[in-house]
Amino acid sequence: MGIRRIGIMGGTFNPIHNGHLMLAEWAMDAVNLDEVWLLPAGMPYMKAGKDILSGRERLRMTELAVADNDRLICLDMEVRREGYTYSFETLEELRRKYPEYDFFFLVGADCLFAIETWKSPERIFASCTLVAAVRGEASLSGMERKKEELEQRFPMEGGGIILLPFLQLSISSTQIRERIRKGLSVRYQMPDSVLNYIREKGLYREKDESFKEAQKSHGKETGQQTF
Ligand code: ATP
Ligand code: MG
Repeated sequence: MGIRRIGIMGGTFNPIHNGHLMLAEWAMDAVNLDEVWLLPAGMPYMKAGKDILSGRERLRMTELAVADNDRLICLDMEVRREGYTYSFETLEELRRKYPEYDFFFLVGADCLFAIETWKSPERIFASCTLVAAVRGEASLSGMERKKEELEQRFPMEGGGIILLPFLQLSISSTQIRERIRKGLSVRYQMPDSVLNYIREKGLYREKDESFKEAQKSHGKETGQQTF
């Protein structure tokens, strides 16, 4: 039998980290997925104007991160698209391309609570099963209530919502970017291949005076790369 159950992970992946990778790996066991496809976003409309690296760089880091795992696949379809990316469009496109597959949209709790504010959530729920993992401050009981609320509000034609108890991993790309800016270590928060790429290209480093100030206040030599 061919591949049938596919996890989809969208994200800015700015940069990709072990929270993303562990979520993908856990979901494969918990929901019995054959593969997880990771799709770095073009320029998400909620994040426009923030400190986001180019699609090419975020795609490259994602490729490096999954290179040693046959069941994690990096797709460039969102990055290749011009402008903003909406999750419902991606999911509908995947359904058209692969009508024989079942899709499971993997998200962290923050997305479960925000999904109503996204464009056309009803089309997301019509296209896939939503798998929402515990993250940050969100409790499973709070997520349970949100799930019921969403199920009352939207027809769940795609398979409904599955809640995934998950390690409370406090890793986030935002925190990683901040730590790099301050010259602090982000080792063990992402694969070494991604870390090396960030180092080699000098990504996420402050280029102005405030970076020097931040470094001084941490007792580091100006310009020295410590992460
Ligand atoms: P940022 O801080 O820039 O928003 P992020 O760490 O939230 O970055 P995203 O690329 O925004 O990463 O997230 C992609 C998906 O991965 C989202 O569904 C998000 O909820 C989920 N995710 C990211 N980090 C974790 C984590 N530590 N635990 C569970 N889910 C996570
Ligand atoms: Mg996020």
